[in-house]
Amino acid sequence: MELVADIQAMQAELAAWRKDIHAHPELGFEENRTADFVAQKLQSWGVQVHRGIGKTGLVGVLRQGNQPRAIGLRADMDALPIVEQNPFDHCSVHQGAMHACGHDGHTVMLLAAAKYLAQTRNFQGQVNFIFQPAEEGLGGAKAMLEDGLFEQFPCDRIYAMHNGPGLPVGKFAAVPGVRTAAGTFFDIDIQGKGGHGAFPHLTIDPIPIAAQVIGALQMLVSRATSPNESVVLSITMMHAGDAYNVIPDSARLSGTVRTFCLRKMHEIEQQVRDLAQSTAAGFGASASLDFQIPFHPVINDEATTAFAGDVCASIAGEGNVHRAGAPGTGSEDFSFMAEQVPGCYLIIGNGEHSSALHNPGYDFNDDALVYGGSFFARVAERELADAG
Ligand SMILES: [Zn+2]
Ligand SMILES: [Zn+2]
Repeated sequence: MELVADIQAMQAELAAWRKDIHAHPELGFEENRTADFVAQKLQSWGVQVHRGIGKTGLVGVLRQGNQPRAIGLRADMDALPIVEQNPFDHCSVHQGAMHACGHDGHTVMLLAAAKYLAQTRNFQGQVNFIFQPAEEGLGGAKAMLEDGLFEQFPCDRIYAMHNGPGLPVGKFAAVPGVRTAAGTFFDIDIQGKGGHGAFPHLTIDPIPIAAQVIGALQMLVSRATSPNESVVLSITMMHAGDAYNVIPDSARLSGTVRTFCLRKMHEIEQQVRDLAQSTAAGFGASASLDFQIPFHPVINDEATTAFAGDVCASIAGEGNVHRAGAPGTGSEDFSFMAEQVPGCYLIIGNGEHSSALHNPGYDFNDDALVYGGSFFARVAERELADAG
């Protein structure tokens, strides 16, 4: 069990790249500087670069020999609309944008493997380095697929990694089956009839109706879902009104639903619509629902995940690889890629003392770079081992 020595030797360089990307975060589909950075590095190592796959996404292609076998290695590049609150020198210089999910680290781990594989070329076949934009709910994976990702760059298997705060550096989780939840963003628009705040009987006040809808929706999880099934329904935004003495015409409730299967998600969608419409109708108002499903559940292919677990064990030791565990209610749009190609979505330790993902004090742990880089490098070499 060992790290790839050539990648270990790059540690200082990798950390410098990571801090540079961290200081210059870009939101989904705006990753122009990041994509330039990645493309320039790949080209300098002789990796063929294809830009504009999913707008700001790009694919690096490294081929060795004539074997048809090919694999995909995927990293995400986008940042979040968060004001960073870190005191260190590589704090975001883009006010209101922050790498609070560690996609800066994911990008650099994939670059580390690309550099190593381009220099050593100890494989037969094709490695597709997939640098995805807009993972945080804006549909980057879908955009790449719609631009023909797997038609242009066929892959027999695909691998992706996400850092895990709380998991010690040097540990991995490679677990088969459902790993992340399906996730939706929804808006309920309640249309009442506005008027004077002193004459409510002449209006249809959408605000107490919205309150009733919120209460009714709580019943979907507590009373209408089997205890053996997991559902999260959170109302995260309420908007109505502009003045003390005006009953508004309409109100909007927005939120998110998470489930581990799409069947349940479609059930919840219908139930939310029915409840909102019937509750509003009971008070003489109307309601409409917009229900978007930007994330399907990530389902790890069994054989691919066992293979990935073995690669992790070869790097970190079997005792540092979790091969079982409950899924999380977070979401990840790698799911759409893993629906088309057998895939594995790994978790790599970001340290016990790491801030939580999406927290303004979060930072990717540079000590993890050599582990992730080694994983991507070794999984490519093993998948594409020269059978002849
Ligand atoms: Zn995130
Ligand atoms: Zn993320």
